[in-house]
Amino acid sequence: MSQLAIFGGEKAVKTVNEDMLKWPIITKEDEAAVLDVLRTANMSGTDITKKFEREFADWIGVKYALGFNNGTASLLGAMFGVGVKKGDEIICPSVTYWASCLQAMTLGATVVFANVKKDTLCIDPDDIEKKITPRTKAIVAVHYLAHPCDMDRIMEIAKKHNLKVIEDLSHAQGGYYKGKRLGTIGDAAGISMMTGKSFAIGEGGMLITNDRTVYERAIALGSYERFTAENITDEELKPYMGLPLGGYKFRMHQMSSAVGRVQLKYYDERCAEIRKAMNYFWDLLEGVPGIRPHRVDESTGSTMAGFYAPHGIYVSEELGGLSVTRFCEAVRAEGVLDCTPGCNSALHTHALFQTADVYGDGVPTRIANSPEDIRKLDDNLEPAEKIGTMIYGVPWLKKFIPSEIEEYANAYKKVAENYKELLEGDPGNPPRIGGWHFFKHTKKDDK
Ligand SMILES: *Cc1c(COP(=O)(O)O)cnc(C)c1O
Repeated sequence: MSQLAIFGGEKAVKTVNEDMLKWPIITKEDEAAVLDVLRTANMSGTDITKKFEREFADWIGVKYALGFNNGTASLLGAMFGVGVKKGDEIICPSVTYWASCLQAMTLGATVVFANVKKDTLCIDPDDIEKKITPRTKAIVAVHYLAHPCDMDRIMEIAKKHNLKVIEDLSHAQGGYYKGKRLGTIGDAAGISMMTGKSFAIGEGGMLITNDRTVYERAIALGSYERFTAENITDEELKPYMGLPLGGYKFRMHQMSSAVGRVQLKYYDERCAEIRKAMNYFWDLLEGVPGIRPHRVDESTGSTMAGFYAPHGIYVSEELGGLSVTRFCEAVRAEGVLDCTPGCNSALHTHALFQTADVYGDGVPTRIANSPEDIRKLDDNLEPAEKIGTMIYGVPWLKKFIPSEIEEYANAYKKVAENYKELLEGDPGNPPRIGGWHFFKHTKKDDK
């Protein structure tokens, strides 16, 4: 008689504790901070944002931080900041959220996609080297699902080819790479702080950099009220002060800034508990066939920050070729709703990057300013295209409660150990797994 819940056995997960999965943690202090802003009836000022920027910059260890209305805008600010312009190429992993790169097209630049590595799920430095052309301007290093990129290799490649490095820190706020805070290693970083993320303040974004030029250019693009003599030293920018160069208005909302200041006070502490919980979860699954953790060895001085949207790597061969779809179905039946296959689909497979003529150039926007058809570089992006079958969600545990974590780990273990029962009736994987926006969180209303 089968033990698996999918065949009527008892569920592995018996305890329902909302605090285990709930995020962000909002207390009376966050509420009071928002009410303060509301009561001043000055919801569009910059004072609170400036305080938040200063505190954030000090916390992460950079000279400059500039608030944005969302992460997408902060990354556009970073691109403009490092000098991405018409005809340039940026190299970005194909597996990421679109806002790691799509904005480059509004600058007249284009995106060259690189592969991701099977174990880290981050950009593959060997593939970056293959994708460099005379027009390459920058590399976007996305610390995907909180895993730090191989920054030593990336910085070495950038140095050798005189490229800029933009870190997309939207999944990994507060993480470390070999003892250095992520986001402080490249030339600039853009950061989402929207509600679903690990550092969550509502809607908001932040650009961080140690480079004064990047900072001033980012101000010039979308913060007209700060595009003044007080902030601008760059002689090239000075004649245009007062109006935003990009024609954008990217100011962060004060209420988000207020929440951010409160969240920042507790963030490292809360992340430390998440890491304790998540590392315990993965320790329990060490050696289970078919299952590999997506995490770093913390003894190297690297961390997974707040373990944003954690996933596991799937090794189908060790489970008799069982599809990840069937595997996840069985784990969900054990009571783990987060176990869905895949994540962000490979961006280069979307029609927007292939055929869309967004700006009326008469050719696809992706190649509108290119002397050659860079879409041919999309061939051979294998792990990226297969990503949907390679990974599955695991619960994002916020509390270190061993007995509850053991229930979650047991769900995966039980399914892996009884995989043979699932082979019969396995429908296989559908042609596409994952989505353009995001994978499922525990909260239904995220995006
Ligand atoms: C969420 C996200 C962004 C964009 O941030 P928004 O705040 O949603 O605009 C950029 N890059 C990555 C990797 C993200 O996950």
